[in-house]
Amino acid sequence: MARPGRGPEVPLARMDCADPALFEELMDAVRRVAESAAFTLGAEVEAFEREFASYCGVDHAVGLSSGTEALGLGLRALGVGPGVEVVVPANSFIATAEAVSQVGASLRLVDVDPDTHNLNADVLERSLTERTGCIVPVHLYGRMVEMGPVMEIARAAAVPVLEDACQAHGARYQGRRAGAIGDAGCFSFYPAKNLGGWGDGGALITSNPEIADRVRLLRSHGERPRYNHVLRGTTARLDALQAAVLRVKLPQLDRWNEERRALARALTTALAGTVVDPPRPAQDGGDHVFHQFVVRCSTRDRLREHLAVHGVASGVHYPVPIHRTPAYSDLGMGANSLPTVERLASEICSLPLYPGMSGEAVEQVCRAVHTFSVSAVERDAA
Ligand SMILES: *Cc1c(COP(=O)(O)O)cnc(C)c1O
Repeated sequence: MARPGRGPEVPLARMDCADPALFEELMDAVRRVAESAAFTLGAEVEAFEREFASYCGVDHAVGLSSGTEALGLGLRALGVGPGVEVVVPANSFIATAEAVSQVGASLRLVDVDPDTHNLNADVLERSLTERTGCIVPVHLYGRMVEMGPVMEIARAAAVPVLEDACQAHGARYQGRRAGAIGDAGCFSFYPAKNLGGWGDGGALITSNPEIADRVRLLRSHGERPRYNHVLRGTTARLDALQAAVLRVKLPQLDRWNEERRALARALTTALAGTVVDPPRPAQDGGDHVFHQFVVRCSTRDRLREHLAVHGVASGVHYPVPIHRTPAYSDLGMGANSLPTVERLASEICSLPLYPGMSGEAVEQVCRAVHTFSVSAVERDAA
């Protein structure tokens, strides 16, 4: 959507190379690991696991190779497999569903709340069956699911909860961190996430020692001690280079998230009176760390073209809901089977928001939305 010949002036996200001081610190950490030649597990990964567990307020963090592996191994550790149903909101990145498929369980894709775009208690209550073996709430865009009622329903039904916190690093819900509320929580450290490495990475956090121990075994061929394989696992370890990069960035996470919240407030105020509907404020005090700043607009595709012409990048997270993708056509869920998710998919638009975003960039985004709104009003009047 960028103008021919050059990228947008205001990008959707910013990478570490745009921050020279941080970049130097990260290069030092990479050099330290390279000089130690300890690339797999080891001291760097263990140190990151301790620091991330402490940050999240849980007893254990297990470093893994991606968020998708964190979800898949988390499900396995909870005993989820063939014959069991897993409740997943259809408004998520496809990885949440893939993890369920990977362990051979049945996917129960459900609709979401029109205001929060997340799983809610009403939908969850209607979605539980005899076969439900796990619930995976997704804190999409960095907005906390209303976890109080979700946990009440799950506990009453004796169903474990695995949080997909891959977009919500550091968000809080009634004082507790994302991922620390359910039985376990899963994170991705894909570069563009609120806490991102320089490649793929992930983690599972929990205060349940048995879950942590099982995931530790599964991530490295069920090996304990060396060449003694106590169960069938896989290769899904966080590598030491990623751990070193993440250790530099973790102490900045709260400050970056605070900056994201402040930018979201500024954008929300400045977008008043335009054709876009900014994210609704939480009703239950739940946090939002704005991995994405997602607005709704009934003429979304025309809006995006207008933004591109005015040098403003935008995205759609996600244009095709999971149940409507070719990958999941075998679920046989036709058009309108999950009306809220499908309506959102046609109206949502992610606007630029990232730590370090300048006041001018915020103004450029808002000016572009305002000029689109004016032209839309003129078009309607014509
Ligand atoms: C990024 C993401 C994942 C998967 O993480 P990877 O590290 O890319 O495997 C899972 N769920 C959600 C909601 C995500 O945004």
